[in-house]
Amino acid sequence: MKTIVAKTEKSFDSARTLPIAFRKKQLSALLNFFENEENALCDALYTDMRRPYFESKIFEIEGGKREIRHILKNLDNWIDVHNNEKNITNNCKDVFFITSEPYGVVLLIGTWNYPLMTILMPLAGAIAGGNCVVIKPSEVAEATSSVISRLLPKYIDNDCYPVITGGPKETTELLQNRFDYIFYTGSSQVGKIIYEAASKYLTPVTLELGGKSPVYVDKTANLKLTAKRILWGKGQNCGQVCIAPDYVLCTPEVQAKLLGFMEDAIKEFYNGSVKTSKDFGRIINQRHFDRLLKLLKNQNIAIGGHTDAAERFISPTILIDVRPEDPIMQEEIFGPLLPIINVRNAQEAIDFINAREKPLALYLFTNDGNVKKDFMERTSSGGMVINDTIMHIVADGLPFGGVGNSGIGAYKGKYTFDTFVHKKSVLSKSFNPLQEKIESVKYPPMTPASAKFIVDVAKSNIVISTRYLTHALMFALGVAVTVSSYYINKKLNEK
Ligand code: NAD
Repeated sequence: MKTIVAKTEKSFDSARTLPIAFRKKQLSALLNFFENEENALCDALYTDMRRPYFESKIFEIEGGKREIRHILKNLDNWIDVHNNEKNITNNCKDVFFITSEPYGVVLLIGTWNYPLMTILMPLAGAIAGGNCVVIKPSEVAEATSSVISRLLPKYIDNDCYPVITGGPKETTELLQNRFDYIFYTGSSQVGKIIYEAASKYLTPVTLELGGKSPVYVDKTANLKLTAKRILWGKGQNCGQVCIAPDYVLCTPEVQAKLLGFMEDAIKEFYNGSVKTSKDFGRIINQRHFDRLLKLLKNQNIAIGGHTDAAERFISPTILIDVRPEDPIMQEEIFGPLLPIINVRNAQEAIDFINAREKPLALYLFTNDGNVKKDFMERTSSGGMVINDTIMHIVADGLPFGGVGNSGIGAYKGKYTFDTFVHKKSVLSKSFNPLQEKIESVKYPPMTPASAKFIVDVAKSNIVISTRYLTHALMFALGVAVTVSSYYINKKLNEK
């Protein structure tokens, strides 16, 4: 590990990743990886969790390609931002910059449920920022991790972006090295271990974590569509999605209607047979399958509850009469089980949510403007969707990330680029004698008059924009020429 990290540091120190042309070449190579290896990647995702082909193509392959194209299109504009607004303390010749400087060597740790997206999307941003990256895919999605480590090095620079495989042991060893940035996706529990390791060198981090994402449904919502949208979100990747709806809060009256529509939606989505449907996946491994069965114990199953250990199959399962103290309400479910908990109204739902850790996503189904306002203002979550689930992750321009226990930082598009660069403020001054005369007031010995002058300048907050300086000078020159030619003419006429 040490040798690989040292080699990556050397590559960064060689300044190879700094030219924009180099970054664009690597990003195009990453795009080619997605395009050329689509079949190998989709096959690996199928092997790992029987991920339906179209789900892999839409979410992991096309989502990744779209992100890279967006970065390639905008990178030039994101690199340097000039700021020419000056205040009275600045000389007209002063130059201001905010420059986007790469951090250096980034450690990128991915998770198994979206083993491509959680590695390759941040990787694209880190490359765009000019960093070197040590890539550590999740060992749990074994087939996908193997495709990444075998095929990705054929596309991108191996010295700048090495791939390391392995699990907690290897990650622990990696974390003993000093990195300039750590980007981690996974559970909140391991997130704390990463944060602690990063604190040793005050390394900045992004932690993309999980948690229990609640849904509140009130009687004003279109309950037929609500049932479909909740179950569509819960059905993706067999419920193994960080922003999957985790549990539903509603009144007993809403629950009674919702259950009927949910039963219809499951029949409609999977042609009456979830198990044989090509559109429904499987649980990643035996450990998670057993964990989910344990959560089902002693629960009142309203819909579903069918399991097959040989295939690690669990059908979409709706639970009622669930109590807040039940084991299923103590951890992120990460599977196709959906408990419903009864509350009397929106206020009680808000109190229930606020009594727990801040979720990664919060879903609200209502047509009531006051309820929307209350949830927006009085709850805190990484993201929030009104009248749908999951769709905010594909909404262009919206950063994706958690808050509190669900994460630190956010990414996607421009936010990914910004994650991997330090915004360095640069002020460049001249030795202009006139300005030096004015500015010499700052030097000791300080007098009451000089102190007053400085305080007055600070209070005045005068902004001298240089944007129109040339126009103003040309205008003054025009006036001077007109006035002098008037007097010259007058003098000549008098003669
Ligand atoms: P995981 O087991 O794949 O672990 C994630 C990474 O951490 C892996 O690379 C693994 O090698 C490493 N790791 C595991 N234990 C470790 C340890 N003790 N020390 C050091 N490294 C260790 O995945 P997981 O943690 O089971 O992931 C599921 C979680 O990820 C869920 O909570 C889910 O909500 C969350 N998630 C979040 C996002 C997001 O974008 N916010 C996306 C996907 C998943």
